[in-house]
Amino acid sequence: MAVAAIGDCRSLEALRADIGDCRRCPLADTRTTLVFGVGDPHARLMFIGEAPGKNEDLKGEPFVGAAGKFLDELLASIGIERSQVYIANMVKCRPPGNRDPEPTEIETCAPFLARQIELIDPAVIATLGRFAAHYVLGLDAPITSLRGKLYHRNGRNVVPVFHPAAALYDSSKRSVLEDDFKRLRAVMDRVEQGG
Ligand code: URA
Repeated sequence: MAVAAIGDCRSLEALRADIGDCRRCPLADTRTTLVFGVGDPHARLMFIGEAPGKNEDLKGEPFVGAAGKFLDELLASIGIERSQVYIANMVKCRPPGNRDPEPTEIETCAPFLARQIELIDPAVIATLGRFAAHYVLGLDAPITSLRGKLYHRNGRNVVPVFHPAAALYDSSKRSVLEDDFKRLRAVMDRVEQGG
């Protein structure tokens, strides 16, 4: 049976089916579960992380480990529940030992993320960490200079923030993330008011 082109997938379910038991890059050999994404398929706010870690690889859901717990806290701090947003990653399979994803792995997976963004059609994208920021913004500046600012790409608002895992290793990043989430809330409020 012919497989539809990614751009022809008209729903997240069709896209997930199209990705199938993906063997397009070497991460297929070491992953347990492909982590497609989770949340409201019509979310106004979409988060994009880097790649699944150990817990996500086992559970098949993004951000369910320690970084995910902190992400849930950050969301709660601005009055948003996980079920109201959509969460996906740049790369859908766990890099062994949680190493950084390779450029070819990002390139191979990027069309799936691009189609997820088109289908969900969020008004606001919050990128978590440098890989997602660089991909969505098309910039490769350090995340320290990108974070907390508002950008516009393809008619969407984009707010890059530190990866929540970074705050687990460096507690000074915690308050920076909390402040950047307040900025994100302000952007959401403006969008919801049609501004
Ligand atoms: N870090 C990520 O970038 N994504 C996850 O899903 C979990 C941890």
